[in-house]
Amino acid sequence: MRAKNAGTVWRGLARRFRGAGIETAGLDARLLLGHVLGLDGLQLAVKENLLVSDADIASLELLAKRRLGGEPVARIVGSKEFYGLEFGLNEATLVPRPETEMLVDLGIEFLEGRKRCAILDLGTGSGCILISLLVNLSGAGGIGIDLSEEALEQAGQNSVCHGVEARTDWRAGSWFAPLGDEKFDLVVSNPPYIASQEIEGLQTEVRKFDPRVALDGGRDGLAAYRAIIGGASRHLRSPGTLLLEIGHDQAEAVAALCLENRFEKPSVRKDLAGQPRVIVAQY
Ligand code: GLN
Repeated sequence: MRAKNAGTVWRGLARRFRGAGIETAGLDARLLLGHVLGLDGLQLAVKENLLVSDADIASLELLAKRRLGGEPVARIVGSKEFYGLEFGLNEATLVPRPETEMLVDLGIEFLEGRKRCAILDLGTGSGCILISLLVNLSGAGGIGIDLSEEALEQAGQNSVCHGVEARTDWRAGSWFAPLGDEKFDLVVSNPPYIASQEIEGLQTEVRKFDPRVALDGGRDGLAAYRAIIGGASRHLRSPGTLLLEIGHDQAEAVAALCLENRFEKPSVRKDLAGQPRVIVAQY
């Protein structure tokens, strides 16, 4: 068999992915080929003529089959870029979403310039939110809480990779339960917010491959918000900020919960697609 170059292999795979209706066909093909060759996407772009061995083509084929079976690339390669940083993932962590980067932008906006500040990230998963904040706020430290020890192990590793482990503390448990009387300047969370009965209708990539506890927001999708908003005031300094990612139809309900719990001026921020995405409330 004539050896193939990286460009040809990539285009062939992208074509198959497109044929299977995968929206991000070209990107996915590039990430998988890069993973097999040990190159990142950019390096691959400049190495079109690199020869790909039969063994690498065989490894790539195994990964391609998984992708064609609906498994997201981030799960296959075990990592995902978020806020310009690479985050390792495991079975217990959600794949970080680009929309969630808004929480980091807003957190930085609120805390920038402070010499010292404390952040609490509830349902931290891979730790992507807290770690991205700490990388960008040199005076900040924070606690990340998650139900899953396995997720926290991954978050811990990610904090080491990004050099912020000395400013983090990972604790297992439900919402505020692992805390004593610690107080924070910012409480942030991207909690599970899909109504239980809607999970079956989600795309395969999410339904089959994201951990269900990271998605399931109970009967009306608001269970996590009740717990978080109900408990946050005990752990916020005044003034302090609460930042919550929300589903596109939850802005009113979550803002109302904030008002009921003595938060001031809850405001809704829209994402780049124009959907309500984050609630900001002051305490
Ligand atoms: N905080 C993590 C993230 O945004 C996990 C969120 C979750 O599991 N719902 O990716």
